[in-house]
Amino acid sequence: MNEKLLDGKRVAAEIRAEVGERVAELRGRGIIPRLDVILVGDDPASKVYVGAKARACEKLGMVSGTHRLEPNAGQAALERLIGDLNADPEVDGILVQLPLPEGYDTHAALDVIDPAKDVDGFHPRNVGLLQQGRPSLTPCTPAGIMELLRREEIPVKGQRAVVVGRSDIVGKPLAMLLLHAHATVTLCHSRTRDLTSVTREADLLVAAAGKLALIGPEHVKPGAAVIDVGIHRLTRREEVERLFPGDEARMARFEAKGSVLTGDVDFVRVAPLASRITPVPGGVGPLTIAMLMSNTERAARLRRGREE
Ligand code: NDP
Repeated sequence: MNEKLLDGKRVAAEIRAEVGERVAELRGRGIIPRLDVILVGDDPASKVYVGAKARACEKLGMVSGTHRLEPNAGQAALERLIGDLNADPEVDGILVQLPLPEGYDTHAALDVIDPAKDVDGFHPRNVGLLQQGRPSLTPCTPAGIMELLRREEIPVKGQRAVVVGRSDIVGKPLAMLLLHAHATVTLCHSRTRDLTSVTREADLLVAAAGKLALIGPEHVKPGAAVIDVGIHRLTRREEVERLFPGDEARMARFEAKGSVLTGDVDFVRVAPLASRITPVPGGVGPLTIAMLMSNTERAARLRRGREE
């Protein structure tokens, strides 16, 4: 079983170590990469993510700045702050923590970010470059999945890849990256007819729908590689028992913490069929933040024309 697991934690640690080395080299030339994160409002999950990003930066020798705006600060104040960070020569990366509170125009805010500092890769210029196959700063979760596939030698070229979910953050950019890596890609969504028959064609199946245990054994071709992007917090004992029957270690974690995480894949039933599979937690999640670090360091070099 363990040899099937795609260990995102280990790969993320590898990526962070490499970024740390490149940062040290930049620091030797007097360049200290800096990431600035904007948090609007007080969503508790967003606060946790922002804190984690700042700590990750500092651990690798980069600088981080956090800017908090009141939930009712308004679009104009947000865009002014982005403008100030665009103009600040010390700032290499700008990230607006999503989702923004109600009343904000996310697209309008992201459009204002200098594409050279757009470490989330969500600016239309970066989206367009990705589509053309000349990516500059690539969205972190899809980029992390591609790194995992590459480093774990999961075949992509010529393979049938099916991505379930078409968000701008995960599904669409991942489909583009897989296409450029020469997979034959199908992108599914909530209106896809007969999802099971589509996903059963997949050599590489990515679940990014945000629906608890959507992907069961009936969706998976034996021998497929399965990547689970979804994150769900189980807070009811019956759910843990239903999805992880007899898993005493998980139940003990649930008892200790009051919740456990799982994904879009019904892991216990799908894992026996899959050739390789990511767990949740410890799969795709750690890669996202590692790639944000990588993008920040890359932005610092790109801006100075130092891309090697
Ligand atoms: P969104 O809600 O933005 O998108 C979900 C997509 O899934 C939509 O395209 C939707 O279709 C599709 N979908 C929903 N239900 C079904 C269904 N029953 N069958 C087929 N497709 C369906 O989510 P995100 O892309 O932002 O996130 C997806 C999941 O990944 C979430 O659980 C999120 O928490 C997690 N996530 C994890 C990250 C990590 O680092 N591990 C990073 C980012 C997200 P339609 O377009 O038709 O509505």
